[in-house]
Amino acid sequence: MKWQSPIAPGLSWYQATLAERPTYPQLDGSTSADVIVVGGGFTGLQAAYQLAADGVDVVLVDAARFGDGASGRNGGQLGTGQHWWPEEMEHKLGKARSLAFFRMAEDAKSHLLDFARAQKIDIDFTPGQLSVAHKRNMEYTYRHHAEALAERYDYPHLSFMSRQETAERLGSNHYYCGLRDIGTGHIHPLKLLVGTAKAAAKAGARLYEMTKALNIDRVDGRIAVETERGTITADRALIACNGYIQEHLEPKTAAKIMPIRSFIAATTRLPKALKILPGGESVDDSRFVVRYFRKAPTGELLFGGREVYSADDPKNVSKHLHRQITQVYPQLADIDITHAWGGSVGITLPRRPLVDEIMPGVTSIGGFSGHGVMLSNYCGKLYADEIAGRSQDLGLYRDLEIPAFPGGERLRKPLLFLALTWFALRDLI
Ligand SMILES: Cc1cc2nc3c(=O)[nH]c(=O)nc-3n(C[C@H](O)[C@H](O)[C@H](O)COP(=O)(O)OP(=O)(O)OC[C@H]3O[C@@H](n4cnc5c(N)ncnc54)[C@H](O)[C@@H]3O)c2cc1C
Repeated sequence: MKWQSPIAPGLSWYQATLAERPTYPQLDGSTSADVIVVGGGFTGLQAAYQLAADGVDVVLVDAARFGDGASGRNGGQLGTGQHWWPEEMEHKLGKARSLAFFRMAEDAKSHLLDFARAQKIDIDFTPGQLSVAHKRNMEYTYRHHAEALAERYDYPHLSFMSRQETAERLGSNHYYCGLRDIGTGHIHPLKLLVGTAKAAAKAGARLYEMTKALNIDRVDGRIAVETERGTITADRALIACNGYIQEHLEPKTAAKIMPIRSFIAATTRLPKALKILPGGESVDDSRFVVRYFRKAPTGELLFGGREVYSADDPKNVSKHLHRQITQVYPQLADIDITHAWGGSVGITLPRRPLVDEIMPGVTSIGGFSGHGVMLSNYCGKLYADEIAGRSQDLGLYRDLEIPAFPGGERLRKPLLFLALTWFALRDLI
């Protein structure tokens, strides 16, 4: 099955290994609803499902097909906690808030797995995550992190790995030490995405693909979202466009969430004799331009590691990622790459998610900063919970200060490019 996302480069291995990917109609004519959701990634579709399940009349539009953004094309790693380690968050936000954020992320993890189970979505969940150090001097920090989580965050699933254990679990001696997390794992993200869309449609959400929101405004006390072939009016709106947000649609969100392109390559199946990742864990490393990889249940290596900060795509993603793969696994010098693709990660300046009230009744959610597989799904659910009066937990994010990137509309991207290039260079030292 071949479908080229119009908003992200390359054909993904996820798309190639999917049994079916239903299409949804384009909106043709005006309509009204209780809630309009703009963006059909994890955030938007999970919100649409929960709202519809609550009996709320919800319309969701996506400019492309569901999953063409980050949600259907990512590394599939759930991780644990937020983008920042809890002990780092403690310094900035205090122990109580850091603990609340950690617990929320654990709830997000359970929610994702429970939701998939309840909806009978086979997401290929595989347990285990290794976080590995690319520099020699990180042993103390890693040991301390495992202790902090066990002692202060009631999370006993993390253990320190020596250099030898790290090498055995990876099948590579490229890294110095690491952490093994048996309380999390990785998934096939497009299977989850497609299953969530199906669940939302079944619950009664009206879903439209290839329907771009052009403008959002308040008209006569309601919210009006204009599309090419009709306007949707609603009492509330959720903007869930993440790294694909456009300035003209919502300038406040566009000033706070910036896209970074990240790329993944899939190889042919690895020979078992090579003993690469024999335990099936996913991996992320300590580089600023993080390398993240895992073996699919069918044996292919999915390796992510290239980022570009300008809008342009690199000319040859496969070649670049092949070079990175062989730095970690020299034994894979002759391996073939079957698929290479990318997508936009939405980041914020402090690398914390954005939950913002844009105007009365209009909420914007995104900017998960590379940590959104479980958090975006959960934020979609929390948005619906808030409307139903079940939970106020979304407020934890709403209370965070998320400043705009400096430079204004014209200089924002070049300044970010410079700053990130500087940090990326430090990976080499
Ligand atoms: C290559 C890559 C690897 C990643 N790896 C990981 C990982 O391993 N673990 C992890 O936790 N996170 C990872 N992430 C991040 C994670 O995928 C995201 O945080 C998450 O999917 C965000 O979901 P979302 O629904 O908020 O946004 P998206 O999935 O990006 O969806 C946004 C949607 O909005 C739509 N849209 C935009 N503008 C409009 C408009 N005007 N009208 C209508 N629709 C519009 C787009 O078409 C898109 O479908 C990765 C991301 C990428 C790109």
